[in-house]
Amino acid sequence: MSGLSVFKKAVKIIEENRIRLTDNVENAWYFEIDEPNEIEGKIEISVRKNGGIRAPPCSCKYGIYQGIKGYMCRHQIACLLYLGKKVKEEDEAK
Ligand SMILES: [Zn+2]
Repeated sequence: MSGLSVFKKAVKIIEENRIRLTDNVENAWYFEIDEPNEIEGKIEISVRKNGGIRAPPCSCKYGIYQGIKGYMCRHQIACLLYLGKKVKEEDEAK
């Protein structure tokens, strides 16, 4: 399997608007991602604004491997893609 597939899946999450910013606090962003493959149908995930990773970094079934192997799941990558776009838009709005 190509290592690129996790990035393609992350791009798909963005394209299909399955990611929502649910909270924006002083030091972190919180997201919810629609994920039909998960038991609850959604994923909750947060990203620290200083670039750090919160444990567990994602509630998906791959979350347990993260931190052990330095692995990023599609949800983490989707959050970063989302934030990259948001930060750029906010910069342009200034
Ligand atoms: Zn995940």
